[in-house]
Amino acid sequence: MKTETMRAFLVTGTRQADVANVPVPSAASDEVLLRVLACGLCKTDAKIFMSGHRDLLLPRIPGHELVGMDLQSGRRYAVFPGKTCGVCSYCNAGAQNLCPSVEIFGFSREGGLAEKIAVPKSSLIPLAPDISPELATLAEPLGCCVNAFSQMALPPRTDILIFGAGVMGLLLAFAAHKMNLCPVLCDIDPDRIKTSRAFLQPFSIPSFLRKDISYPVSAAITATSAPDAAEDALSLLKPGGAYFHFSGIGHRGNLSGKSFDQIHYKQLKVCGAYGCAKIHMETALKWIASSPDELSRLLKTRFSLSRIPEILPILWQGSGYRHIVQP
Ligand SMILES: [Zn+2]
Ligand SMILES: [Zn+2]
Repeated sequence: MKTETMRAFLVTGTRQADVANVPVPSAASDEVLLRVLACGLCKTDAKIFMSGHRDLLLPRIPGHELVGMDLQSGRRYAVFPGKTCGVCSYCNAGAQNLCPSVEIFGFSREGGLAEKIAVPKSSLIPLAPDISPELATLAEPLGCCVNAFSQMALPPRTDILIFGAGVMGLLLAFAAHKMNLCPVLCDIDPDRIKTSRAFLQPFSIPSFLRKDISYPVSAAITATSAPDAAEDALSLLKPGGAYFHFSGIGHRGNLSGKSFDQIHYKQLKVCGAYGCAKIHMETALKWIASSPDELSRLLKTRFSLSRIPEILPILWQGSGYRHIVQP
């Protein structure tokens, strides 16, 4: 019998990838086969292509911000990008991203940059009829923001400084606003600050150049892999303040011992966040439904699989808006 094939963006090595014909995956009994309607492309995908990633197993179809349609029922779903064991203490506590045997879509399991994908039924999140697939691709990155702020409950109205005015910085600002915190955004790039304002203005969230912020803050979070931002965050925090390490800095350098010691001397609370759980994406989808027009401003380009190789190097340099692939 002839194997049915589909088009997919396949990464085979560092800076080595192609749009290839690959076999259509077969869905196991606890899975469904989805037609991918939209898949967000983010800086993590660029990292996978440009320099590899800790959790990556090659060859691989990337794509972890996906929305698809069940070909049998016609129902549309956002997808929690993981297959988990479902029985460990982390899974039972609703922290699937920490499951020791998690297979992450686009890293250790095939992702959404393909025409079709097999998805565990437990990873499906039904989509409301009025949410477009493109907008719903924000459920995963926004879910990561929900996860971060869920790790450590800050009192309402706490001021929080967000480092980095890329898409993740903007989504963190939106999430902080929804969680009744008082976010302020900063960046070293005047252009990013300028473009951030159109998104932030409806929520009355201010943004500044990093050099213009010298006052102490109660909480800080990094949405950039620049080690300087982590060092700045630790130095600007008030004694007893809260630091969220949201963006890894592994490939960019090290935190100095002097910076790290501020956790000790100022008795800071420190919180890490990596990915999200399904419950965080469910919250994110409700928030997306509350501000569809504002969040749509983050989605500027839509393109097919064949253009991914030219977009990834641009994303690697940093982009103020989200790119959507329609396979
Ligand atoms: Zn992403
Ligand atoms: Zn588990």
